Amino acid sequence: MPLRNFARRRLVPRLVFALSMAVLPLALGSSIIYWQTLRSLSAEARLASEEALRLFDLMLGNAEGAARVALSQRGKPCNDSALVLREQVAVVPFVRSVNLTRGDSIYCTSLFGDFTAPLEGASYVEGRLRLMAGNPVTPNVAVLILRQFDGEYGAVATVDGRYLSNTLQLVDQRSDLQLQVGETWMDEEGKVHSGQPDPLPIGHIRLVSERYPYAVIGGFSDGSQWLHIRQEALPLAILLLMLGVVSGVACYWLWGRSATPSLELERALLAGEFVPYLQPLVDARDGRWVGAEVLMRWQHPSEGMVGPDLFIPMAERSGLIVPMTRDLMRQVGEGLAPYGELLGEGFHLGINISAVHCGETGLLDDCLSLQAKFLPYRPSLMLELTERELIAASEVTEQLFGRLDAQGIQLALDDFGTGNSSLAYLHRFKVDALKIDKSFVAMIGVDALSVRILDSIVELCGKLDLMIIAEGVETEEQRRYLVERGVDVLQGYLFGRPMPLEAFVQAMRGRAKEFANGRGRS
Ligand code: C2E
Ligand code: CA
Ligand code: CA
Repeated sequence: MPLRNFARRRLVPRLVFALSMAVLPLALGSSIIYWQTLRSLSAEARLASEEALRLFDLMLGNAEGAARVALSQRGKPCNDSALVLREQVAVVPFVRSVNLTRGDSIYCTSLFGDFTAPLEGASYVEGRLRLMAGNPVTPNVAVLILRQFDGEYGAVATVDGRYLSNTLQLVDQRSDLQLQVGETWMDEEGKVHSGQPDPLPIGHIRLVSERYPYAVIGGFSDGSQWLHIRQEALPLAILLLMLGVVSGVACYWLWGRSATPSLELERALLAGEFVPYLQPLVDARDGRWVGAEVLMRWQHPSEGMVGPDLFIPMAERSGLIVPMTRDLMRQVGEGLAPYGELLGEGFHLGINISAVHCGETGLLDDCLSLQAKFLPYRPSLMLELTERELIAASEVTEQLFGRLDAQGIQLALDDFGTGNSSLAYLHRFKVDALKIDKSFVAMIGVDALSVRILDSIVELCGKLDLMIIAEGVETEEQRRYLVERGVDVLQGYLFGRPMPLEAFVQAMRGRAKEFANGRGRS
């Protein structure tokens, strides 16, 4: 029977379930953290770009003011105007130079005074703003030039590129910011590039100034999301990991715990926790161990050994008693069959069967496969049906009992005297033996009325030619009384308590040796 294999197979879905319950919060939490990170990076890029835009507007506002003052000097000789230009450079923040222009030429500068150079007015975006990688004075330092004009005169004020790159860097140290003027743009290092910048992979934003023809581009490079997660979300990630582990372990444990008693029984069955105990059946004449009754025990992982009265009723109600009995028979077959010779031909095996099992034709197969395990020996199987739970006669049960009988499998009425079976019942189901309930045996020497009932049961069995087994024999007095009445087989603590299979085989071996030496009870 692959019951044990089946139990192991169930481990796989259990592990898969626990693992998915561990991974689920992790996966869900990680995606939320990732998504949240992207959102917060976008917000940060927007904020930084807005701040840079505000500062550049401020710088260009200063340049515009300086250029306007310079323009008031238009038409005057440069020598007179140069002082005003220099004053603007000295007084106005961020302004590095102020020059006066006429037509497409510069004719007066704050640095050199009277000085002529081309203006290149066409390179100014909207005629007003120009970003240059450097100029003849500082070829390696970028400059941003703002132009004001009035007719043929004009003024240009330059802002030092270092102010610009410092602003791009310091507004927000983590994000990438760029300043774009027409077809040129400046990065955070102050380098001026021509053409269009590549869009930034994360949180890309482009804000256009309302006052001057330039834009600020903000965003983050690829991979900064991981850096951000490491910096900001590490504790959360650790918490998530712990949550995943806890959830996985809890689900693994919950799967093992059964929600209802019948599920708990099913779990125990699959885990192989139901084991057979054997109690010897003794020949009343010579005390020889002629058989055993199989009694179920639950080897509970936390409760220890649990007796059948606590779980058999539930197993019967849920129908689980059928596979439980089948598994018990399998275990008995596997455990005892190797000792066929020691047990001997016709060794009596009593199996307790519940009424629900008798509605199943599978019972016959279970019995036959148990017998087959003992080949070439043939144990004598005896199915014990309790009198307290009589089987309703039906076509199925009658057929089943007919076939069991044909295979030499015997039927015993258990707990006889506690129920109300009729003679017709005994006849109909071809009962072979009666097991006198231990409550009657206990009354021997104690209660005269009960003993009278016991006497009449024994007498009845003699007349019906039924075998009698007395259970619950605990004292020598009880044994003697039953032997005197001609009871065939005895069972009780006086001879042996229910014991595990291995202990039973060992005890059986000891008994066999005793008999071989002629010391057995006669
Ligand atoms: P039962 O079939 O009447 O089994 C005899 C019960 O009497 C056993 O109790 C046995 O341990 C106990 N017993 C044996 N000798 C003595 C004695 O000298 N003194 C006393 N006081 N008790 C003795 P156990 O093992 O606790 O089983 C209780 C009942 O549970 C059984 O009564 C039977 O009805 C049921 N049961 C046990 N195993 C199975 C099973 O595999 N299938 C089914 N359907 N029922 C089972
Ligand atoms: Ca029994
Ligand atoms: Ca009984």
